[in-house]
Amino acid sequence: MAAIDSERQAAIDDRLQAGLLEWYGVQGRDLPWRRTSDPYAVLVSEVMLQQTQVSRVVPRFEAWLERWPTADDLAAAPAAEVLAEWSGLGYNSRALRLHATAKAVAEQGWPDDEAGLRALPGIGPYTAAAVTAFALRRPAAAVDTNQQRVLDRWDGAAGRTAVEVRRRALEFVPVDAPDAWNHALMDLGATICTARTARCDACPVASDCASAGLVDPAAERALRRASRQAVPFESTPRFVRGRIVAALVEHGEIALPALAAALPAGITAERIDGALSGLVRDGLVVRAGDALTLPT
Ligand code: SF4
Repeated sequence: MAAIDSERQAAIDDRLQAGLLEWYGVQGRDLPWRRTSDPYAVLVSEVMLQQTQVSRVVPRFEAWLERWPTADDLAAAPAAEVLAEWSGLGYNSRALRLHATAKAVAEQGWPDDEAGLRALPGIGPYTAAAVTAFALRRPAAAVDTNQQRVLDRWDGAAGRTAVEVRRRALEFVPVDAPDAWNHALMDLGATICTARTARCDACPVASDCASAGLVDPAAERALRRASRQAVPFESTPRFVRGRIVAALVEHGEIALPALAAALPAGITAERIDGALSGLVRDGLVVRAGDALTLPT
């Protein structure tokens, strides 16, 4: 961000906030999960949306809620049925995470703040923030890739860490409209300020955006590619966790000593141990002695 005094920046932020909320009031997308403050429905939508397009999620979200209208209903369903209903949405571990969260909520009830949500099995920082803002209607920044891109462009500050962007995002969240604000930012990133192009001429906040008319999507893509290549997905804990869940979906039960042979070659015992511990802790894998299974 170019050097700019804090008073001037605060005035810019106020205009960005007011302009975007006004635009959202007229242009915001009407989506089924935006018509409810039920934390369970919001959670289902957020987990589905993590890797799947909005248009594909809408019918699946409605069918899911028809089949399991509450967290209690989902908690009582066998894991095999949950996985079958999830079929086609990809990344089965998401369904198992949702199932684990529903079971915890069925036992303990819904927490009433972001920290409590974060402590539930199967809920990460983004999802906890989203449920806080959309269902609890408390200030929280649900920073997805759309929000991050828009915030980076507003400030002309590519390459910030997730923590830095989240801190910046929180500065904008209005106490009285955390849901509308987060939706508005996501919508701007999904429809006008997209990864492929920035339609600055149609943007409601162009006059206060540091990148108006200056965005070079090809250069941004190259930057993203370079940072992705710096950390190949196969070397991340998420990759190992996903492979373990996939192996258990395929085999049903695996004895611990045989787990490494059921995974892609080259994953060290240390990485398998770390990923497995996390999965067991999150309630996504059940370990009884040496036997590993998915939760029932
Ligand atoms: S002015 Fe352009 S770069 Fe800035 S937020 Fe709007 S569309 Fe994005």
